[in-house]
Amino acid sequence: MDRKKKNEIRVRFAPSPTGNLHIGGARTALFNYLYAKKNKGRFILRIEDTDRERSTKEYEDNIMRSLEWLEINSDEGPFRQSEREEIYKKHIERLLEEGKAYYCFCTREHLEKMRNKQREKKEPPRYEGKCFSLTQKEKERLLKEKKNFSIRLKIPENEILEFDDLVRGKVKFNTKDIGGDFVIARDDFSALYNFVCAVDDMDMEITHVIRGEDHISNTPKQILIQRALGFLSPRYAHIAMLLGSDKSKLSKRHGAASVTEYKEKGYLREALINFIALLGWRPPGEREIFSLTELIETFSLKDCQRSGAVFDLQKLDYLNGYYIRNMKREDLVNACIPYLVKAGLIEAKFEEDRYPPAYGGVVPQASYYVPGKKEKISFQKLGEIISLYQERMKVLSEVGEFTDYFFKENIDYQKELLFWKDAKEEDTRKALEKAASILSKVENWKREEIEEKMIKEASKDKDKGKLLWPVRVALSGKKASAGPFDIMEVLGPETTFKRLKSAKNALKRAENQ
Ligand code: GLU
Repeated sequence: MDRKKKNEIRVRFAPSPTGNLHIGGARTALFNYLYAKKNKGRFILRIEDTDRERSTKEYEDNIMRSLEWLEINSDEGPFRQSEREEIYKKHIERLLEEGKAYYCFCTREHLEKMRNKQREKKEPPRYEGKCFSLTQKEKERLLKEKKNFSIRLKIPENEILEFDDLVRGKVKFNTKDIGGDFVIARDDFSALYNFVCAVDDMDMEITHVIRGEDHISNTPKQILIQRALGFLSPRYAHIAMLLGSDKSKLSKRHGAASVTEYKEKGYLREALINFIALLGWRPPGEREIFSLTELIETFSLKDCQRSGAVFDLQKLDYLNGYYIRNMKREDLVNACIPYLVKAGLIEAKFEEDRYPPAYGGVVPQASYYVPGKKEKISFQKLGEIISLYQERMKVLSEVGEFTDYFFKENIDYQKELLFWKDAKEEDTRKALEKAASILSKVENWKREEIEEKMIKEASKDKDKGKLLWPVRVALSGKKASAGPFDIMEVLGPETTFKRLKSAKNALKRAENQ
């Protein structure tokens, strides 16, 4: 751990590895990161793995990999609380020596009885401090008898604690609402959550604690712990809770997911970062599109809202679509390839005979094949196919559904789909034949010439759809697809004619049934 420089801002992201990195955690990480970078400070990563039963290495890995993917990189850490037990123990011993903490031998039954009594009297549950008044002798005897104990922090009975929250303004707590002297460690001296968190924030010289509002009830306890230890507390900023569209606490049913799930679905890191930043932070003005660098320049805690931040999946789709539209073709193709492979539309084979970069060419990472076909499909061709959908793609995982007809040998036609409005089979057959005849006159198989000739013919009727609809469906087999001229250019003349013919055959086949 580096020592703090004078006036340095130090923040931390302190996830518990009890689940994958979720959208809420990613937001806390991002806000801390932005605050650190904006203020030329340090961003520290701390793994809060005190809950030994629920913490796992896998979750920790997931958190680390997700942060890495988001490029929210830490300046220090990860520090693990499970590796710092000696430090906590020393602080607990010191508090015991100074009489600021004490052994409590109360049994579970006693505590239960006390709580029931309080409930009857309609009083809030609190520890009444019985063991604080044990004499030295009694304490020694009970320890010798190896009675179970916990360690409690002595807290003031009726004091107003106030802190200036950087998002919420002045926050006041009365110590009488804390529930009495609370437990800071178990009888093996293993410290509990609030204690380790308070110690670490001081030990790591954290200047600002930025975290979800759900932690606000922990803050007075942590301040009391720090006070007992003789530390100054950091500044706090509790950011608004995430809510679903129905204003209830955000959950899976609102479409909230882990960073990994978003990544797998084909959300881009730029879009996710941009989206997360807007969850609870209101940038000045109307602007919505921010790169990470722009976020660092613009972010400020004073623009964080107090009321809940509503999670809107449509907005994420909108932002993702925006970033997809702005991708370079090559990057988009590279990003889409894994989804095409997953959809079984292409296979990637890694080659040994790579061209060394010294020859100046691009080093091919892999060759792509359409399953069942011998010849390769070039990166260039994949680019032509994918870019037809660059404008309308919302998530990368859609690429398969959009483009499958480019990779299929045969289209399975739905006869009715070939019919334009109230056209009959005969009209449809004629349209397909007409198209084939027009297209046979195309000299240079490029979109421009195809379009010019087809439009000229289609315009002879005031409803161009009569010719163009069955053609487009013949090419794609789909109700919605890219435009017919683009498709034809990419498919090439051979496949185009073949599809016009198979569509015609499909009409015949259906007729005979
Ligand atoms: N470990 C806590 C959590 O994952 C965060 C505690 C904090 O930020 O103070 O919710």
